[in-house]
Formats: sequence, C-alpha cells, structure tokens
Amino acid sequence: MKRITAVLMAVLMITGLTACGEADPDKARESIQVIAMDTPMVFTAYGEKSTHAVYMAEDEARRLDALLSRTDENSVIYQLNHADGLGITVGEEVCGLIEAAEAYSQATGGAFDISIAPVVSAWGFTTDRYRVPDEAELAELLTHVGSEHITTAEDAAALDPGTQIDLGGIAKGYASDRVVAIFRENNVPRGKAELGGNILVMGDKPDGTPWRVGVQDPAKPDEEAYAAILTLEDAFIVTSGSYQRYFEENGKRYHHIIDPATGHPADSGLTSVTVVADSAEGNGTMCDALSTALFVMGEERALDFWRSGTYDFELVLVTEDGRVVVTDGLKDILTEVEESGYTYEIVS
Ligand code: AMP
Ligand code: MG
Repeated sequence: MKRITAVLMAVLMITGLTACGEADPDKARESIQVIAMDTPMVFTAYGEKSTHAVYMAEDEARRLDALLSRTDENSVIYQLNHADGLGITVGEEVCGLIEAAEAYSQATGGAFDISIAPVVSAWGFTTDRYRVPDEAELAELLTHVGSEHITTAEDAAALDPGTQIDLGGIAKGYASDRVVAIFRENNVPRGKAELGGNILVMGDKPDGTPWRVGVQDPAKPDEEAYAAILTLEDAFIVTSGSYQRYFEENGKRYHHIIDPATGHPADSGLTSVTVVADSAEGNGTMCDALSTALFVMGEERALDFWRSGTYDFELVLVTEDGRVVVTDGLKDILTEVEESGYTYEIVS
C-alpha cells in the first residue's frame, strides 16, 4: 500500500500535479478540435483559464466564419458581393479587414488580391464543382479584378458591378490574430492554435522547451512528412501551398492560389511558402496575406520582397525542383529533414 502511494505520488509529480494533488495552474491544459471556416482547427491552451480560452477561441472562429463566408447567404461578405454595385454597411471590423487586404495587395504589386473572387469561382473552388475555364471567360472576369473596383469608408463598402471579394487568403490569419488576443486576455501562459495551415505558438511548452512546428512536405500532403522543422516560441507560422487544395483534369493539376496577372493557378516554381513572424497581434493576418502573395510571386520576387524589409518576417520556400530555401533569420531554429530528399539553402 505504501509503495503504491509512493508510485502514485511520483506519477502525479511527473504529470505536473503537486504532492497534495492540486494542479499547477500554469500546466492545466485544455485542447479542442473544431471545424470552422471549412478548416479543421485545434486550440490548445494552458493556465487557469485554459478551458474558457479555448471555447472563446472556438466561438470567435465561428463568428468570423458567419461574418466572412462567401457562400453563406447571411454573411456580410455574401451581401456585399450581391449588392449590385450599391454600398452597404459592413461594420468597422470587416471594413478594416478589407482595407488591410488592400494594403497587402498594393505592397505585393497585386499578387494578393481579394477581388480575385470571380476567377476563383470560375475554377470551381468556391463550390467544389471544379472546371477549367477558357481564356475568353478568364479575360472577361479579370476586367473586374483590381483594387480600383473596391471602395470602403469607415463601416461601409461598395464593389463595382461584376466585382466580388474572397477573404479566403486572409481570414484564417485574421482569426489567429483574434485567438492570440483571446489567449492573452485570459492570461494563457502557453498555447497553440492550428487553423489549417495557419499556426500560432504562444510561450514555450510545459517542459520549458520551444514548440516544434513541421513544414509539411508538399510532395507528401497526406502523410506526416516534413520538409523542415522549426523550433520556436511566440510566433505565427503560416503556409500556403499548391498541395492544400487542387483538382486534376486530363492529367494536369490545378490548385487554388490564382495569379491575378493571368487568371490561372500560379505557376511560380514553388510548391509551398511558409511565412514566420513574431506573435504580435496583426502578424497573423500579415503572414496569411503574404504566404498567398509570395506563392504567386515565386522565389526570386519573394526573396526580393523579403530583402526590401517592407514587413518583418522570415521565409521557408519549397521549390518544385526539390530545394528548401530558408531566410537567414531562421537558420538557427530550422532543422533539416534528411529523409525528405530536399537540399537546403540559407539566403541573406
Ligand atoms: P491561402 O490558403 O491563405 O494561400 O489562401 C488561398 C485562398 O485565397 C484561395 O482558396 C482563394 O479563396 C483565395 N485566393 C486565391 N488566390 C488569391 C490571390 N492571388 N489573392 C488573394 N486571395 C486569393
Ligand atoms: Mg493566405
């Protein structure tokens, strides 16, 4: 009996419980899995208010889904897209998000463009009814694409007739910014949020070591296979890749990131772009917009953009020809994966 008690005590201590059976508040853990914004999400938080924090994160993801969805007829974005050129009240939050998207569009020379929506739909990505549109159709749709077709003012917005917007390239990043705010409001000392390819890590792991986040190997999308592993704390890690959503027709693969210059899936020589930045609120949105934009821009333009210093972030690019290109701010926290077969390059 005495021995069993001793063993039990040891187990309790190892699992983070004190000898008198009280949980260490910083190690209380809650983790939930939800599907929102068409995406599997995992929210994990530690601390006394961890349970409240993860359920608030879930509520927030669902609120944003209902607000920003393109397909839900009750969403503000649906109503704006179907307002036939009239201005409508969208609220300050949505207005701010559209304006942020516009700023990223301008900064990336139009590589990121939420008004790409009609083209995304023409390829069937909005409805999952995939098809290859012909050039005449794409050319007509592209006449409605561009910042000049979007007007915002405080809490209202208007789109030119024929223009629609799709916040799919930025909404999960914005949601992850809201999650970091919710976690902070609830004094979460450490936690992790995974919103599809948008990952947030807060603090360190309970054992005091940094989080390890794998960059998915785009060549093996259905396996637990990584092109690289990042070891870090308090960061957003956001990946856009051609492996994340695509269809095949006549042996050709068509993915969901569209080059606004051509109306076709971006053919930039990259298979994925991972953008890493510190966990300051706002950086989740930035990483999401930039991962999409830099995928469109390709290796050379993406690295030039990184070197320009317009925004503070680091990059992991995976190329079609089997290279992993890493910006030098990540060199000490990146682990190569030998069995992946990639070659690694650090750039400055
Ligand atoms: P992400 O997974 O963040 O790279 O976003 C991809 C999604 O953003 C697509 O499924 C579309 O809804 C939308 N999208 C596609 N191409 C673009 C683009 N060039 N700029 C902005 N959004 C885009
Ligand atoms: Mg994105």
